[in-house]
Amino acid sequence: MKVFVPKERRTGEARVAATPETVKKLTAAGLAVTVEAGAGEAAHFTDAAYRDAGATLLEGDGGGAGWGDAALVLKVAPPAPEEATRLTSGAALIGLLAPHQNLETVRVLAERGVSALAMELIPRITRAQPMDALSSQASIAGYKAVLVAAVRLDRYFPLLMTAAGTIPPSRVVVMGAGVAGLQAVATAKRLGAVVEVSDIRPAVKEQVESLGGKFIDLPMAETGEGAGGYAREMGEDFLRRQREIVHQRVARADAVIATAQVPGKRAPLLVPRAMVEAMRPGAVIVDLAAGDGGNCELTRPDEEVVHGGVTILGPTNLAASMPHDASTLYARNVLALVHEVVTDGALKLDPEASEVVAGALLTHGGEVRHAPTAERLREAVT
Ligand code: NAD
Repeated sequence: MKVFVPKERRTGEARVAATPETVKKLTAAGLAVTVEAGAGEAAHFTDAAYRDAGATLLEGDGGGAGWGDAALVLKVAPPAPEEATRLTSGAALIGLLAPHQNLETVRVLAERGVSALAMELIPRITRAQPMDALSSQASIAGYKAVLVAAVRLDRYFPLLMTAAGTIPPSRVVVMGAGVAGLQAVATAKRLGAVVEVSDIRPAVKEQVESLGGKFIDLPMAETGEGAGGYAREMGEDFLRRQREIVHQRVARADAVIATAQVPGKRAPLLVPRAMVEAMRPGAVIVDLAAGDGGNCELTRPDEEVVHGGVTILGPTNLAASMPHDASTLYARNVLALVHEVVTDGALKLDPEASEVVAGALLTHGGEVRHAPTAERLREAVT
């Protein structure tokens, strides 16, 4: 069975879906892997390393021979619609497909009879943890968000005692203590900051405290714990009360790392304009929810906004700014899914037999199987 790993072409995408390490394992499993020349270049994996791992290198695949030949294509970012048209009917595609932002690609994939498996739709069950690309990439984003804030800040993070006197530690507020938020807490603590955290799931309080962060209690009767341990969407009254409680802490923060998200919904608005205006000039907000509407009212995706001296950054793909380790982990997540869907060297995509396949299959047999995406496509047509 032929597997193809194309070079990522989306602006800013420096990751690659297979590394020499995973290619070696794919070929050991009897798969014939072709890698587009230069696919690993931005993540510092050389063509020679892929060749040594057993891959065939394909030079200059502008015409799409690699895509057209493959039974399985491994991607990071969603393919452009014209890339999707190169896949043959019955072929499979694995990637972070962000279906709601790429409806045209989804439509083409379904129309061509491609079986597209979206990494972000894999159910977060214990058995599927090795495939959890949302976690592996969010962890990098949380780490990097703190480093970005530290670089942009006009102050030290740690407490410093110098001959010229003492510098107090920076204050960091982390909004949302999921995978990215917890990594942000750990990183900010390692740099010596004082860290306060707001989340609506009471279960994370203990995790935050075990990392040395201070959890901001929300005395509301309602909790934000939803299905499967995820957050649920809170009403405006709850969010208003939450904003009142965090206001003073954000106002005196040097850096805010915002990671609060609710699966499938717009990110909650936690830092309105007035809160930014209460912060000191020189403070920095890094809003990792920028791609889903942002936690801060003034965030612009992938732009830098300066408001009253406060810098607001809205990076949507921070994992790609650390492409070597991001690719190493992502490629392992992909490899685990390949092991799930390939049996005896052939694709076996049976939603009845695998909860993972049932969840991840975005398109299959000419249909869009993911109900919210199918709904959006219908809305887009009418
Ligand atoms: P996410 O990116 O969807 O959300 C990030 C965080 O934002 C969550 O902690 C959420 O509670 C929080 N949030 C939502 N609304 C908020 C608000 N108004 N104010 C403050 N915070 C708010 O979440 P994620 O990082 O992908 O994962 C969330 C959780 O899912 C994990 O912490 C874990 O419990 C669970 N999980 C389970 C597995 C598994 O394999 N079983 C794997 C990964 C994650």
